[in-house]
Amino acid sequence: MAQMMRAAVLHASGEAPTLTLEEMPIPEPGPGQVVVRIIASGICYTDLHIMHGDWPGKPSLPLILGHEGAGYITALGPGVTTLKQGERVGIPWLSSSCGLCDYCLTGRENLCPHQQNTGFSVHGTHAEYALAQAAYVVRLPNNLDYFEAAPLLCAGVTSYTALKEAEVQAGQWVVIVGVGGLGHMAIQYARAMGIHVAALDINDEKLSLAHELGAEVTINTRYQNPVARIQHLISGAHAIIITATTADAFEKEIGMLRNGGTCVLLGLPPGGFSVPIFDVVLHHFTLRGSIVGARKDLQDALQFASEGKVKAITDIYPLTDIQNVLTQLAQGHIHGRAVLQIA
Ligand code: NAD
Ligand code: ZN
Ligand code: ZN
Repeated sequence: MAQMMRAAVLHASGEAPTLTLEEMPIPEPGPGQVVVRIIASGICYTDLHIMHGDWPGKPSLPLILGHEGAGYITALGPGVTTLKQGERVGIPWLSSSCGLCDYCLTGRENLCPHQQNTGFSVHGTHAEYALAQAAYVVRLPNNLDYFEAAPLLCAGVTSYTALKEAEVQAGQWVVIVGVGGLGHMAIQYARAMGIHVAALDINDEKLSLAHELGAEVTINTRYQNPVARIQHLISGAHAIIITATTADAFEKEIGMLRNGGTCVLLGLPPGGFSVPIFDVVLHHFTLRGSIVGARKDLQDALQFASEGKVKAITDIYPLTDIQNVLTQLAQGHIHGRAVLQIA
């Protein structure tokens, strides 16, 4: 009989999602795959979007959620020669890509139209074991523990890549909108790159964290006008990175940019926002989406942490607490990133 493991499984998404903790068989690795004993698994707001059916694409149900899984390899499938039993690895959102399309051939496999996504189209990491493609797991630096590493596998790489996409230079200003899992990492990557940071949120506790992490300006958009404050304090930002989870946060944000500035959209709430064409054209603004990062970006994002330049702030919970943690996240009560302790 197959050996069993515990996993958090989503059975229905939408207004009343059902997520249950249950026993499932430990997966067996196929060709090119590995099985990872998960020790730490970060909870991204994306888990909530998937549960609530917020996106046009729907998850493959029933589904084990989670795409920030850190652990060690317990089994290798046929043909896997690049990894060893016991090796410490991370499983990110990008579970696999085709390897053959224009995007894959140019190191932009995160744009591959044939990609699979961990905890969305294939089973994820909120479980004692997870299956992964050997070519898409990342080796964890020896000096990072599993809990420090897990948040980097999505929040870290996504923020790091967004800063590159924002084309903001050392000495310039970036506005980070939303100081949660992604935002608290974005502030640290920006500071490590010598970029000045203004942080916006609707929650004063998150703004205190932003200040501790090096944000030089903090603005609570519940009672301060961010456009007026940013234009007054720094004469406009060179770039904005939006990690907020409601569409209203995207409205008017480009008003904070200086001429020639770039606004990078990371948050994925349902809905849209209006863009004033005249302003975009006359002020030469760039609006750009950015989706996680490629494998090389992930390695680089981990390297920053290995060198002590960034460090995820974590709230650690047992797997049995997952429902409670998701509620806390939805209510904005998580400090930094919530990480499940699976082992
Ligand atoms: P989080 O809840 O940890 O952080 C969101 C932060 O935004 C919180 O601090 C919250 O207080 C703040 N916020 C919410 N509404 C706001 C508003 N109107 N104005 C200012 N701040 C506001 O969530 P997270 O895990 O960091 O994820 C953030 C978003 O990014 C989610 O939509 C998630 O799906 C998305 N995401 C995108 C990518 C990508 O590759 N583009 C990757 C991961 C997550
Ligand atoms: Zn994520
Ligand atoms: Zn491809």
